[in-house]
Amino acid sequence: MESPRRMKPYAKPEGERRGLLLVYTGDGKGKSTAAFGLALRAHGRGLRVRIFQFIKHQGARFGEHRALAQLGIPVEGLGDGFTWKSRDLEASARLAQGGWERAKEAILSGEWDLVVLDEATYPLRYGWVSLEEFVDVLNHRPSQVHVVVTGRGAPEALVALADTVTEMRKVKHAFDQGVPAQRGIEH
Ligand code: ATP
Ligand code: MG
Repeated sequence: MESPRRMKPYAKPEGERRGLLLVYTGDGKGKSTAAFGLALRAHGRGLRVRIFQFIKHQGARFGEHRALAQLGIPVEGLGDGFTWKSRDLEASARLAQGGWERAKEAILSGEWDLVVLDEATYPLRYGWVSLEEFVDVLNHRPSQVHVVVTGRGAPEALVALADTVTEMRKVKHAFDQGVPAQRGIEH
């Protein structure tokens, strides 16, 4: 083992301030909660945090919505709750496009230090939001803006652009043993 004296000292992380693109994807539990954890950390550092959720509807009052409201972190539901079960896919698509316009504005405005796009991979996969435009906006955002994208099946172009990508892989999930969603854990 190299003696400690000869090891390269770590650079102080203070210097460059650079907005990161982080992606939480995969089929295991923890994508949204990781994004909320990061939002909590950023908020604690005085960063201006804004959260958009592409599937949840505006009225959702899950545990995270209650806690984030207490902290004064704005969360916006952009979807109609259960989009994949929706009968009117045209309406869901319009909703997603309208939501994306709002999220886009928030990212490009530079008024927010961290923007969370929870569940954003779904409208991208359904083709409701153009992947090309999505990537283009992230590419041209103000340089200090951090963006977190969550959802299963992150498109390759998004993974390629991202700085940090974590895949939540399901090893086990209580749901598979027939355990229903638990308040405070799942919602
Ligand atoms: P969480 O919000 O708990 O961090 P997630 O964002 O990773 O989960 P989603 O794909 O958004 O997961 O799923 C939404 C809901 O489905 C959550 O209540 C989550 O607990 C649950 N879930 C996540 N992964 C699985 C799985 N592999 N099987 C069944 N249910 C799951
Ligand atoms: Mg989620």
